[in-house]
Amino acid sequence: MNIAIIGTGYVGLVTGVCLSEIGHDVTCLDINSEKVELLQKGISPIYEPGLEELMLKNIEAGRLKFTDSHIIGLKDKDVVYIAVGTPQSEDGSANLSYIYKAARDIGQNITRDVTVVTKSTVPLGTNYKVRELVMANLQDNYLVEAVSNPEFLREGSAIHDSFNGDRIVIGADDAEAANIIEEINKPFGLPILKTSISSAEMIKYAANAFLATKISFINEIANLSEKVGADVNEVAKGMGQDARIGSKFLNAGIGYGGSCFPKDTHALVKISQDYGHDFHLLKSVIQINENQKTLLVKKAKERLGSLEGKRIALLGLAFKPETDDMREAASIVVSKQLVEEGAEIIGYDPIAAENAKTILPEEVQYAEQIEDAIKEADAVFILTDWKEIVEKALLMSGLFMENPIVFDGRNCYTAEEAQKLHVEYISIGRDAVL
Ligand code: NAD
Repeated sequence: MNIAIIGTGYVGLVTGVCLSEIGHDVTCLDINSEKVELLQKGISPIYEPGLEELMLKNIEAGRLKFTDSHIIGLKDKDVVYIAVGTPQSEDGSANLSYIYKAARDIGQNITRDVTVVTKSTVPLGTNYKVRELVMANLQDNYLVEAVSNPEFLREGSAIHDSFNGDRIVIGADDAEAANIIEEINKPFGLPILKTSISSAEMIKYAANAFLATKISFINEIANLSEKVGADVNEVAKGMGQDARIGSKFLNAGIGYGGSCFPKDTHALVKISQDYGHDFHLLKSVIQINENQKTLLVKKAKERLGSLEGKRIALLGLAFKPETDDMREAASIVVSKQLVEEGAEIIGYDPIAAENAKTILPEEVQYAEQIEDAIKEADAVFILTDWKEIVEKALLMSGLFMENPIVFDGRNCYTAEEAQKLHVEYISIGRDAVL
């Protein structure tokens, strides 16, 4: 099979690299020429553990190529994956303009019968529209089939997830098209679930909405725990030991961010509205998450009074550890709030600082080393639980700050650890350590 992938972002690039690793010939196509130039040199434009090494290996083996030309990228391809972005529009819906552009590009440039596989997260009915658009733009009488193959990888462990995922969902109305995509994926050795196109489209949104719900649920339990004197970490542990509930996604904190949960929950609310259904539960999930992101500043104001002129160290700027992705990161909301309060902000992130500089308010200063952020701070905020941050933040606050006070948005430490280091410690859903 000759495979093309349209879009070399977190999903497209990882998909291209992993498909080439299991032996396929893959051409990755992106309209961003700067990205393509880097990729052709074997440099990954994104930070993702293990990605660059695997990419280099497969470029050298001659199985993986990059181009910004649709003519070159789509020539003689039997299977074309679409992995372009589907960002949130102003009304909450998924913006499908990149998807539709990719579909038209496929139609105009394909040179044989083709199976078009949509990996991007798209609303119900989009795969049918993609097929229609490809067919409407064909230069000859080729056969076109559509397959929905939603992606479940997590940034930060994307390569691992591709080889160890829980399942591969293949949604198709045409059995032969489904078989082609099954054959391509067989070497991964993962369970394959074949469904209709509509079910596959729905599975992706339902899965993300459920995970977001789990996070907002434990965050509400955290907010209640604070009031009643319970410790949410203990509560989550006790809940998680029930196999029906499971321990994953029960970490209370300052909410979810990233390029998927926020936009996908909004999109599912919008899809529901379009079909005349009011998804009350999901609306609350979104609202709870918005509120969670503001908690640290609220707690800091309650404890310190005015934040005017106070120097706050923001530790961890990416939306989660092991990624440089800043999309919908809590640091965006927190830094904006702190600027409004007149605080001085010094940010630190081991990997995402360069991306943060293009997104966070210009008032934010940046430290090269974590200790430089902590040393002159009046208060430390932990926003992302990078391993380095968890290892050093409390210890260094205890060592370097005159009146050490840590506001922890990720519940990284126990009360005993804070007490031992004489650090005032305020976290989420637990009693403060004074
Ligand atoms: P991204 O923004 O990182 O990458 C998209 C890429 O597509 C960009 O490089 C862009 O230049 C390119 N592109 C846009 N239009 C193009 C066109 N017409 N031709 C060629 N290239 C084009 O996006 P992402 O994070 O990889 O997400 C892609 C999709 O996968 C989204 O629908 C997202 O919801 C879904 N998804 C993402 C993740 C994740 O963790 N990032 C996980 C699962 C699913």
